[in-house]
Amino acid sequence: MSAIEPAPLPDYDLRDGRRLEVLESSVEQTFKRLSSHIHGIAREKGFYEKMAGYLNRGERIALIHSEASELLEADRKSVEPDKHCPEFPNHAIEMADIIIRVLDKAHAEDVDIGAAIVAKCRANAKRPYKHGKKF
Ligand SMILES: [Mg+2]
Repeated sequence: MSAIEPAPLPDYDLRDGRRLEVLESSVEQTFKRLSSHIHGIAREKGFYEKMAGYLNRGERIALIHSEASELLEADRKSVEPDKHCPEFPNHAIEMADIIIRVLDKAHAEDVDIGAAIVAKCRANAKRPYKHGKKF
């Protein structure tokens, strides 16, 4: 049996106008605040000190790759508690690490990531079945 089973189908659809607008507004604000918070922690922990090796744009992308690789390795193993957050399985925390790295990059590069997510979700909803691809 696979450690990761297919996700259940979504149990709600917000494409009814007003509810979607409320959700989108919340997503925009939450991601903006969360990216600022995450970037603040990264600065506090020294990841933006020039003497300690200032993170440039490419290095921030490499760190996202690094977290994606850690997620792959977590999925290749049996499900086990994460060593830093044992209340969660390892693969869940690696997923969180990817998002945390993306949000840090977004804040560092002055990207309104919440608005970008909302815009891309709207665009994806209008795309054709499988976006015209085989898979
Ligand atoms: Mg990690």
